[in-house]
Amino acid sequence: MGKKKTPTKGRKPARVKRRGLQVAILVAVLALAAGAWVYTSNPGRSANDEPKSASAYVRRETKATLSPALFVGKIGTAYQIAQDMPDLLDQLYCYCECDKHSGHRSLLSCYTDNHAANCDVCVNEALDASRMVKQGYGMKEIRREIDRKYSRM
Ligand SMILES: [Zn+2]
Repeated sequence: MGKKKTPTKGRKPARVKRRGLQVAILVAVLALAAGAWVYTSNPGRSANDEPKSASAYVRRETKATLSPALFVGKIGTAYQIAQDMPDLLDQLYCYCECDKHSGHRSLLSCYTDNHAANCDVCVNEALDASRMVKQGYGMKEIRREIDRKYSRM
């Protein structure tokens, strides 16, 4: 139709330039969207991510723990916890610092011999950790609480 305006000679480069700008904006928007997606799809920890993280974890202390029947009172309870929930204790640091003087790999190591029977720290850490499991806390919270409570003793 005659209504169609004929572009002047100077407009063609301008239009190409604008298309380039549009592509640049589109790329920028896509990059932002991708960034936002990566950010939101990786929210960090959630309260119920424990079974997955537990399956990814490799046991540090592999020796068997002593029978809880050998002990009485809360020491016996602590050895029972070690027998029932070795992965729990193995993911905790023992603040009696037995890693330094006894070469222990984790709190679980304290229960592979009678070390824990003579150490309040080992016993109380196990009792606290077990109580927190029953209260529904995940491994990260338990580890954080044990670290907070026992690191300053
Ligand atoms: Zn210990």
